[in-house]
Amino acid sequence: ATPDPLYTVDSPNVVYTDSTIKTKYTYRTTSVTKSANGPYVASPKETVYDFQVDRAVGRVGMMLVGWGGNNGSTVTAGIIANRRGLLWDTREGKQAANYYGSVVMASTMRLGIDSATGNEVNLPIHDMLPMVHPNDLVIGGWDINSMPLDKAMDRAQVLEPTLKELVRAEMALMKPLPSIYYPDFIAANQEDRADNVLDGARACSAHVEKIRQDIRDFKTKHELNKVIVLWTANTERFADIIPGVNDTADNLLKTIKTGHEEVSPSTVFSVACILENAPFINGSPQNTFVPGVIELAEQHRAFIGGDDFKSGQTKMKSALVDFLINAGIKLTSIASYNHLGNNDGKNLSSQKQFRSKEISKSNVVDDMVASNDVLYKKGEHPDHTVVIKYMPAVGDNKRALDEYYAEIFMGGHQTISMFNVCEDSLLASPLIIDLVVVAELMTRISWRAHVDGAADKDYKGFHSVLSILSYMLKAPLTPPGTPVVNSLAKQRAALTNILRACVGLSPESDMTLEHKLF
Ligand code: NAD
Repeated sequence: ATPDPLYTVDSPNVVYTDSTIKTKYTYRTTSVTKSANGPYVASPKETVYDFQVDRAVGRVGMMLVGWGGNNGSTVTAGIIANRRGLLWDTREGKQAANYYGSVVMASTMRLGIDSATGNEVNLPIHDMLPMVHPNDLVIGGWDINSMPLDKAMDRAQVLEPTLKELVRAEMALMKPLPSIYYPDFIAANQEDRADNVLDGARACSAHVEKIRQDIRDFKTKHELNKVIVLWTANTERFADIIPGVNDTADNLLKTIKTGHEEVSPSTVFSVACILENAPFINGSPQNTFVPGVIELAEQHRAFIGGDDFKSGQTKMKSALVDFLINAGIKLTSIASYNHLGNNDGKNLSSQKQFRSKEISKSNVVDDMVASNDVLYKKGEHPDHTVVIKYMPAVGDNKRALDEYYAEIFMGGHQTISMFNVCEDSLLASPLIIDLVVVAELMTRISWRAHVDGAADKDYKGFHSVLSILSYMLKAPLTPPGTPVVNSLAKQRAALTNILRACVGLSPESDMTLEHKLF
């Protein structure tokens, strides 16, 4: 049953029924033109949309690719602990399960201003619209390693022993399904883990069908309305984009039949999910979404999202660089060093897999730099270096050292040094939850435009490429031809303001005029 909402909207443009929230919403933007030598001309523009949100969330499954990894085992134990409201001993005292680090579960957004006191009223993002509660997710997945989840969480060395003992029995019953292993795509040092793999060296077609069957079986077994699939398996190397091979949907489907060597396991998973209409999210940096996958998703109106969780260093970067450049300070270089000792670090010690991560980590300041032509001439860029080293002793406690070097007033310099230490998987796990919760919500939102005062006949969904997930992702994928936004503040505002639009509320402007005028 869908719980009663914490608030309702009182507006002639918003209609609640038992099954839907229907909203008429005016989207206001500014269109800018420039004549040959004249100044810019800015014109306010309005588009009217109807939004419709299905209120029934239903039963939702979350299937993880790489379930037995550090992230997979940690997010699973974390959800079980929350579901059961567990409390465990640590050397610092009792610790209760929580969803810290999840923007949806643990952060709030402003609903409005209290009419009696003038104070802000804030709600958890999760309460803005009907969303699946992570405690209710049915969890399953695949791994090329057969270890059940209790042993996998021991191997991960992330959680406190006292917590592990409380979830051990339940975790022991969870066994990853066999997965697709094309050794060429992940580091050679992962080979000894591959004891749970599907037959057929490059039987891509059969593998697509097997993954589809796995999703259907999981749905049936647990009586689910939908399944969201998320890749948290090892980082793969980039696939070459080859005309005729993976550049269009048709070519990719043909290529899958021949088992071409540039089809990666993650691409096979994404194709299976698209054909099964299960949203697929890529938490790793590789180019799973080759052009053929994106076109296929569009053809099937299926949802995809990626790439690469934005957990520690890059999250700081997309907040700090936004601040520096928006403060009018000219960032001139970023040096980012990482060392980590978990299996992700081991995989990334191989050059081709590191290269995927390097690319994903490198482009994150582009839009912020491009937005300021006072500081940067066309094509000018801060220097940016990313180094990652495998250091087994530090385990999952990743270290990220960053130096930001900037030019300030009158040729002066500012150097900011940052040393970020944290358990990598405890940062990534809440992002997995956010990605799944928001992706699921997007399957229940539809829209239609009004043209010349009349609404279109049919409602449709959002674009297949879910750029609304950008806040959680390092290299956000956007619909072809549309800009990438890396600024953390803008990404969050896009998410919260789209939620507001779906209930007919205007975007938060932070003007607070009511407090500023006589
Ligand atoms: P991990 O190595 O502990 O787990 C990955 C798991 O994937 C392993 O159990 C491995 O056996 C399995 N695997 C490999 N290939 C597979 C396949 N084809 N099918 C199914 N399973 C497969 O790594 P992790 O620390 O859990 O990280 C997972 C991914 O998330 C990595 O690619 C990492 O780069 C990415 N990532 C992690 C973070 C973070 O903060 N932890 C941030 C950004 C991105």
